[in-house]
Amino acid sequence: MDYNFHTHTLRCHHATGKAEEYILCAIDGGIKYMGFSDHIPLMHDDGKQSWYRVPIEEGKEYCDEIKLLAKEYQSKIELHVGFEAEYFTQYFDKMVNDAIDFGAEYLILGQHFLCPPNHDSKIVSCGTDSDKELKDYVNLVIAAMSEGVFTYVAHPDIFNFLGDENTYKREMTRLCKASQMYKVPLEINFLGIRDNRNYPNGKFWQIAGECGSPVTFGIDAHSPDIAFDGQSHFYAMQMVEKYKLNYIGKPDLVPLKRM
Ligand SMILES: [Zn+2]
Ligand SMILES: [Zn+2]
Repeated sequence: MDYNFHTHTLRCHHATGKAEEYILCAIDGGIKYMGFSDHIPLMHDDGKQSWYRVPIEEGKEYCDEIKLLAKEYQSKIELHVGFEAEYFTQYFDKMVNDAIDFGAEYLILGQHFLCPPNHDSKIVSCGTDSDKELKDYVNLVIAAMSEGVFTYVAHPDIFNFLGDENTYKREMTRLCKASQMYKVPLEINFLGIRDNRNYPNGKFWQIAGECGSPVTFGIDAHSPDIAFDGQSHFYAMQMVEKYKLNYIGKPDLVPLKRM
């Protein structure tokens, strides 16, 4: 694996390490194409900022820092800067335009929430048997893909559904077919593998294999020592075989356009 476009930094307050530390470790591990995708700044409705994202006032600084490092390390690695973002219809245009103004080159979708987080919103990995919430999640991911600005969908299987299996299959088939139609790859998330989370979910990847959805990998590094992660890569390649996935390797970065 010589690429990875899913990397965080200490700027989001729940990852450790400066960008340069990640870069050095990635180079050591043989990464040739690397992207930073820290959590996009977001203002809550009460005017306070989300604590686990890049602060708004650091958005430009974050992009500038990576661009400077890109020049410094250009003979060793190709570097890009972007954000991991949720899709919330009412904030979407502003979010994309802000990302462009900060200097971001790409976005990956990480739909951790169903509605703009406030202080009591729950993450979609927490587990629910609600058909409605599952449908809402799938609808949001499909709408996001249709916008044509997301490079890929990070951990599309993050939604932890505890209800009826046929409902899960029906809804996730919709998601996987849309990925195929819009040509937006789905990511096997290495953080989920490392932490033994509810994702990667075999049931989901079975469906993705049947639909022929494009599949890529993302390390989702939250500390520099795993800016390269050979062990999870080995596991993910086994998944590709097992579920006959349409693995595309390095994804093409989708350029941002003003909304
Ligand atoms: Zn994170
Ligand atoms: Zn992430």
